[in-house]
Amino acid sequence: MVVIGGGLMGSSTAWELSKYGQNVLLVEQQDSIYTFGSSLGEARISRSLGPKGDIFSYLQQTAVRETRDLIDYLNEGQTKSLHTMEDIYTTSPVTYIYSKSQLNEVKALLEGQTVNYEYASNKKEAEEKFGMNIPDTTLVIREFQEYSGTLNPKILIKKLHKAINKAGNSIVYNQKVKSLKKEEGIYKIEITDIKTGANKTILSKKVVAAAGPYNGTLVKDVAPYFSSLISPKRLFLSFLKIKADKYDTLTSEQKNRLNSYYPVAYLNAEIFYSMIEKYDNNQRPILKVGGHFLRTDIKDLDEVWAMGLTAQEIQWSKENTADYLSKLDLPVEFSDLEFDSGYSCVYSLTESEIPYVSHAIINNKEVDSSFVLIGGMSGIGAKASLAYGLMAADLACGKDNTSFMYQKAKSALGSQRLIQDIHNIDK
Ligand SMILES: Cc1cc2nc3c(=O)[nH]c(=O)nc-3n(C[C@H](O)[C@H](O)[C@H](O)COP(=O)(O)OP(=O)(O)OC[C@H]3O[C@@H](n4cnc5c(N)ncnc54)[C@H](O)[C@@H]3O)c2cc1C
Repeated sequence: MVVIGGGLMGSSTAWELSKYGQNVLLVEQQDSIYTFGSSLGEARISRSLGPKGDIFSYLQQTAVRETRDLIDYLNEGQTKSLHTMEDIYTTSPVTYIYSKSQLNEVKALLEGQTVNYEYASNKKEAEEKFGMNIPDTTLVIREFQEYSGTLNPKILIKKLHKAINKAGNSIVYNQKVKSLKKEEGIYKIEITDIKTGANKTILSKKVVAAAGPYNGTLVKDVAPYFSSLISPKRLFLSFLKIKADKYDTLTSEQKNRLNSYYPVAYLNAEIFYSMIEKYDNNQRPILKVGGHFLRTDIKDLDEVWAMGLTAQEIQWSKENTADYLSKLDLPVEFSDLEFDSGYSCVYSLTESEIPYVSHAIINNKEVDSSFVLIGGMSGIGAKASLAYGLMAADLACGKDNTSFMYQKAKSALGSQRLIQDIHNIDK
């Protein structure tokens, strides 16, 4: 089987297929150190909280289990454990801030909740429970769960590639798929070596497309409807630091507080989210900041990654960070924040913002079991990478799982929904 695209989704799928004993080739256009792609970076929020029966909580928890298996596999045959879950996950409470107008949503979220959490329904409770200083119009939830916090996509991809190789399968870098066609039941994959310009064609009976924002272009000849159903959008990411002279005046209690109140998701109109990406050489946290709904159209997908941030985007990032730090009762103001760096990133969005892990569809109704697409991951893919990879591998191998939640996820992400979505394209 050939998996095209070695980001979080393709790498997870190629690993799950390797675990099933399949003969897999993973093809990636970038060199082994990535410089772009939706999975670029060192932190993504990993969180589990969701309403009863939520497929995304199920998928995140499945991914944590699958990641444990990956770690065990990598440690197999070693005299000491060289790999740990902590290399990938940083467990830290996830803080959610809601507006009081979302009270019903919050109540539904917390009803029968199995994930550990604490809740402050007003200003007084937030002060007593969390030492937070919030306006009366907001509510705060904090999630406390092992492996909720952040996960590091760069390290996860590296470990997945190690495991794929350990299982005897291959990953090729600097190999761009230029054309993907199906002829007489066989996929003809034309590949250009980015470094030498040499071209070759490989043939495969089955293909998994995992090209992130490039999926639409990649599959245009075999599943053309995906280019209408998945749209890439630009998002900005700012990396901010508290200026050194201010950071050095913080007490160790204040520094600990800063660490334990990231990541955060503020469920306001723009959905401000922020997390500690890493620490600089002086142990100052580098805060990654973005707005989930602050996305814009893309003129040229190959060029967008190099686009800098606008002054307004930097301003927005600083304002929202200063606002959050004041809610934490930390003595840090807008003018104490410095812009370290920033870049443009790309989400692949479906209309409902729910991803696809699906077979292709022929003649608008028949399922083509020789082709799987995993994509449209929006801003939620990373935390459940190995669960999506597992589902894609199951589809590719014709395996199933009878658990209720698996089936629920499968129908939300899979071919039943895709057929409906294809029917709706022309409406
Ligand atoms: C700004 C931002 C913030 C996010 N925050 C979170 C978060 O906090 N929590 C969370 O759970 N998720 C988050 N996500 C979502 C998550 O990062 C993505 O869902 C995930 O990384 C998608 O991975 P992918 O493999 O589909 O795409 P990519 O990482 O883009 O992988 C696709 C790969 O395919 C390769 N490729 C493309 N075309 C070809 C070709 N023709 N030939 C060969 N190779 C090809 C590309 O080079 C790339 O490496 C965020 C995403 C973004 C953009």
